[in-house]
Amino acid sequence: MPRVFVQGNPVDYYPRHAPEARSGSVRRITETGEDVLHRPCRDVTEFGPDLAALIDDMFLTMYIADGAGLAANQVGIDLRLFVYDCPDDDGVRHVGHIVNPVLAAQDPAGRRLLDDSEGCLSVPGAAMDVPRPDRAVVHGQDKDGNPLTLEGTGYFARCLAHETDHVNGRVYLDRLSKRERKEALRQMADRREDVYARRAANIEALTS
Ligand SMILES: [Zn+2]
Repeated sequence: MPRVFVQGNPVDYYPRHAPEARSGSVRRITETGEDVLHRPCRDVTEFGPDLAALIDDMFLTMYIADGAGLAANQVGIDLRLFVYDCPDDDGVRHVGHIVNPVLAAQDPAGRRLLDDSEGCLSVPGAAMDVPRPDRAVVHGQDKDGNPLTLEGTGYFARCLAHETDHVNGRVYLDRLSKRERKEALRQMADRREDVYARRAANIEALTS
């Protein structure tokens, strides 16, 4: 079994960080409560250098924040697009981006929901159990407009579902009970400053 898949395809070697990050700039990460995170994003219709540059920025910003995935509205851009660098439960690493992602519907009969801890760069410092299907298929395009399908299991399936939620204007807090949401926001209030301090240190380490 190959250990790394890039854009859904196995590769023999891949560096620690996606090469896109090298040409990117760090962007500010939006926080839950900001409008751009709570409404559906627009379809990407222009495929070109601006889109590629946004993807570069998103990779770097994701690494700075120690994230496994990042959607465009998490850097304030309301376009349907996310990047990811995420392991699955078999230790296989998945890296890439997808434009205009749509989560494939699943037969409820064959669907298995897993409860596992989930966090979000836009809810800094909080982690809560969220039920998600153990498998996810996302259809979309790559940055050049070519059709792309991503398939994941375990933690990577969780990532695909979480990021597709983002472009649809949902954060994982929307999937929690009122009491759980309150707990997540309490954790965020407690740990937010530590998270921002760590990101600032990472900017020093990764961009100098
Ligand atoms: Zn998130």
